[in-house]
Amino acid sequence: MLSLVIPIYNEEKLIDELVGRTISSLESFTSDYEVIFVDDGSTDQSLDRILALQQINRKIKVISLSKNFGHQAAYTAGLENANGDIVAMMDGDLQDPPELLPEMYKKINDENFEVVSGKRTGRKGKNSRTIYTLLFHLFFRNIGEIKNMENTGNYSMMKREAVDALLRMKEKVRYLPGLRTFIGFRQGYVGYIREDRFTGSPKMSIGKLFVLAADAIFSFSRFPIRFCLILGTLGTLVFMGAGFYVLIAKAYGFALIGWSSTLLSIYFLGSIQLVFMGILGEYVYRSYKESQNRPVYFIRKFYDGQEKL
Ligand code: UDP
Ligand code: MG
Repeated sequence: MLSLVIPIYNEEKLIDELVGRTISSLESFTSDYEVIFVDDGSTDQSLDRILALQQINRKIKVISLSKNFGHQAAYTAGLENANGDIVAMMDGDLQDPPELLPEMYKKINDENFEVVSGKRTGRKGKNSRTIYTLLFHLFFRNIGEIKNMENTGNYSMMKREAVDALLRMKEKVRYLPGLRTFIGFRQGYVGYIREDRFTGSPKMSIGKLFVLAADAIFSFSRFPIRFCLILGTLGTLVFMGAGFYVLIAKAYGFALIGWSSTLLSIYFLGSIQLVFMGILGEYVYRSYKESQNRPVYFIRKFYDGQEKL
């Protein structure tokens, strides 16, 4: 069986189109499937729309979360409750075209990959978010400790062994495209043009995207902490040199009344220390989050497709 996991947060206007296109794409290659919608605490009619469609197609399952936990948590809820021996992840705003599912399925079966990810070869509609994403991938390519994640997102399909591996990583700060790359296995790619979202505004605000990028960087790179160390070391060397110069100047009596250099070094040292404390704080916060060991989501109700409305 194939399980398709789709997180939904306030997408009422596109549910009909999404379900229509997704089901016809799935049925073009299999009748043995389930579509697991994870309603991430929507406050609009999304859940009701999906439940109405479930009355028509019992292969639709719905996990309703107790509040909005964010889409990485929603995906995790879906993955943990998927029964398929193949499991796919797809955004619910039609930016990931459902029409690509047959190609992913074919690749995973015929070419013997355990993981197939959608690689974005281009995009329709450029905006500030696009630039932001491009910058993230450029930066991450250079500092990340996992390779070949570039231009992939959540859209992917995995065999059971890969899903199980992914779910064995219980960390609370979850960046799934990174974790999915980290597990290894034979990983394949299918290229696609990322569409504009079908309708409505992005549910990941720039703020949420920023946190996601920070999660990726702090989980899969030691760049931030190493950066502190390197800059701290360089700073120390420079100031040792400067200190030496000051002593010599004093000894030979050509020391100047240097308030500007004094102020500058105070500002410089002060601000660098604040930045470094911030970076350290990120690590402390993240390990605090892990040690709290709270579940990443709570389920209010699981609609398994048998309910009557
Ligand atoms: N989403 C979610 N919870 C959230 C934010 C988003 O489940 O807190 C869903 C959203 O409904 C969509 C998918 O995650 O199906 C991707 O969200 P969005 O399009 O806003 O993200 P982007 O395209 O910017 O990555
Ligand atoms: Mg989107």
